[in-house]
Amino acid sequence: MTLARRDLITSAIGLAVASKAIGRGPGDRPLGYAIVGLGSYGLGVIIPQFANCTHSRLAAVVSGDPAKAKRVAAEHGLPNRSIYSYADFDRIRDNPDVDIVYVCLPNSMHAEYTIRAARAGKHVMCEKPMAVSVAECEAMIAACRAANRKLMIGYRCHFEPYNLEAMRLARTGAAGKVRYVRSEHGFVQRDPSRWRLKRALSGGGSLMDMGIYSLQAARYMTGEEPIAVTARESTDRRDPRFTEVEDIIDWTLEFPSGAIASCQSMYSANQNHILLMGDAGRVELEPATRYDGNHMWVGKDGREREIMPAPGPAKTQFAGQLDHFADCVRTGREAIVSGDEGLRDMRIVEAIYRSAREGRTLRLDGRS
Ligand code: NAD
Repeated sequence: MTLARRDLITSAIGLAVASKAIGRGPGDRPLGYAIVGLGSYGLGVIIPQFANCTHSRLAAVVSGDPAKAKRVAAEHGLPNRSIYSYADFDRIRDNPDVDIVYVCLPNSMHAEYTIRAARAGKHVMCEKPMAVSVAECEAMIAACRAANRKLMIGYRCHFEPYNLEAMRLARTGAAGKVRYVRSEHGFVQRDPSRWRLKRALSGGGSLMDMGIYSLQAARYMTGEEPIAVTARESTDRRDPRFTEVEDIIDWTLEFPSGAIASCQSMYSANQNHILLMGDAGRVELEPATRYDGNHMWVGKDGREREIMPAPGPAKTQFAGQLDHFADCVRTGREAIVSGDEGLRDMRIVEAIYRSAREGRTLRLDGRS
């Protein structure tokens, strides 16, 4: 993108809203997380982030691979009693070092492990998508409520300085009245054998994975709940990657204010973009929701300025997310992205699939 003018603006909001510094008394210990699923996200992204946390620490690992679990536990100084398999996971109830179970498994396993964790008396952080159906999301919320445990979804963008600043700009009228949001997220899925392409494990294709970012962006940039959805799908079913799940899905959301959002996800192109247009300007992020290296511009009166938010108190979005939930557990407040937030998304996801299948607009506000 060519910039008419490159103004670097720093903003103080950063992570302050979402992960405000937590006061810690002398007796407080960082809360212990058990990571369930030592795959590319749980092991490769989340576990290293405990080094950046103030109020959270790694306390246990749960894996189907005993040798890997033992190696990871040894690397992080965990005792053998803090290693679990999927079969003996329920023993975690007897481990006082574990306060929170973090579910980093394939999507269709989220509900089972969230419910088992809650029944074992643990609070739960669950990765996105929350589950593969509305019914599962409701069962997860009910299980956590019955056990009086908290539930948070791993929506890390709510702790990421660029997305937080974009939300603040949208809310404070930097682009005027919000009229339109556009968001596309995708990557090229090359290997047909991956679980993300198997419906029984993924629950769906690109929508269940990258589409969640586009949907979330539409909701947090407008600050509204959609009242109608119209979707269509484009998938080459002869492609061995897409025999079970969708490739491209495109959907439009209508909001009560009259704003509309045009969203896409795909497994056949690399996309990572959010654009908000108002009646007085625009806010654009590209890349928008990466682990790092995001960029943002504000456009007004034909001029564009690059925005560089100041870092917040948390060292990274992941540490902000982990410490926020630790704070919620400690203080009793609800997570800013609780199970209810995941359920709201899943209701819309089901409507997107149904709209694409039936080829018609669906109302989400109960009107016909
Ligand atoms: P992955 O394939 O790298 O890891 C999955 C883990 O689950 C592995 O340890 C695997 O051994 C284990 N597993 C247990 N039973 C399995 C089964 N039957 N089939 C396949 N694996 C099984 O996947 P990932 O990329 O780590 O994704 C895990 C979850 O994290 C997904 O829900 C995904 O959407 C989410 N995720 C979130 C982000 C984010 O930025 N928030 C990023 C990546 C992944």
